Amino acid sequence: MNNLPASFFPRALLLLSIIFVYASCAAAKSAEATEYLMGTRVFIRVAPCGRDAQADIQEIIQEIRRFDAAASAHRENSFPARLARDGEANFTNEEEKSILLPMLREAFAFARASGGAFDPFIGKLSKLWGFSSLAMRAEPPRADEIAQALAASGHQKLLRLDEDGMAVARHTELDLGAIAKGEMLDRAAARLYAWGYRRALLNFGGDVYVIGDRIDAEGEPWRIAVQHPRKAQAYLGVARIQDGAMATSADDERFFIHEGKRWHHILNPFTGLPASEAVSASVIGPRAALADALATALFVLGADRGLALLAQYPGYHALFVFMSNDILQERMSPGFADAAGWKAAE
Ligand code: AMP
Ligand code: MG
Repeated sequence: MNNLPASFFPRALLLLSIIFVYASCAAAKSAEATEYLMGTRVFIRVAPCGRDAQADIQEIIQEIRRFDAAASAHRENSFPARLARDGEANFTNEEEKSILLPMLREAFAFARASGGAFDPFIGKLSKLWGFSSLAMRAEPPRADEIAQALAASGHQKLLRLDEDGMAVARHTELDLGAIAKGEMLDRAAARLYAWGYRRALLNFGGDVYVIGDRIDAEGEPWRIAVQHPRKAQAYLGVARIQDGAMATSADDERFFIHEGKRWHHILNPFTGLPASEAVSASVIGPRAALADALATALFVLGADRGLALLAQYPGYHALFVFMSNDILQERMSPGFADAAGWKAAE
């Protein structure tokens, strides 16, 4: 025994535990949970991986609650609520800062990169349109109301964003609705990876992150169907993804019909009206936060300008659906079909 190197046993044990964990991760069992959080349906499914999967899922759900409490504009005294009230808000503790600062930095960098199509300061407008509240409007706001809310939007209203917090122009309100689900998906996935999970599916209100292979089929990528924007229970096609995200922005998520016209929740920050260049935009890529923000920006920009923006982000690919002469048309970015292993529905 004394002749063995001191590190022999720990190393052998480590090897054994790796084999054990790998074997248990390959099992076709799964643990899952569904909750309504962040104003949306949150679904998590993992292949147990030598740990208490239910406890791990519950820990992620608790993290989503804290994330929502910090990031939601609708919660009393949240950072966005304080910012709307005072024009300035400082982070009150390390947790609030660690949740918000990276997301805010990414949101404003992307707002500039998108030429303002993605606007984290769309808050006043989206409140006016009412898509984020439970009581949906029956008709569009008046033009003067839109003009007033529009004057308070635009990423240029940012006066300060630093380690302490941020300051904005008067009346400007933050709305992180177009990036927060993606950001939270990335956080949840990072936890699962760190805990050693090798197969998982996270679906937060239609934005998805997958880890590894499907739980029920070794060697098979996850299949993610893209909802048909005009037919319930129908889909446009199926993407095959391993370790990556897909986010979709679509005009059928939250909308009302007034005098035969559809008014939906993705707003054009230049007009203050629902964006009309697309019907849906799906983006795949390695990070969900960027896929989420890109999907919203691409929806606003439409296929031509959207594809030009997308080309600046290697590894991200998109599928657009738009209306032309009353017919739904599709357009993919050059790498989409390959990267997504895309199979169109018959
Ligand atoms: P998504 O479903 O990711 O496209 O996000 C839509 C949500 O983001 C809306 O409900 C608004 O809260 C917000 N939003 C709407 N239009 C924009 C925009 N042009 N830029 C950034 N956020 C937006
Ligand atoms: Mg989005």
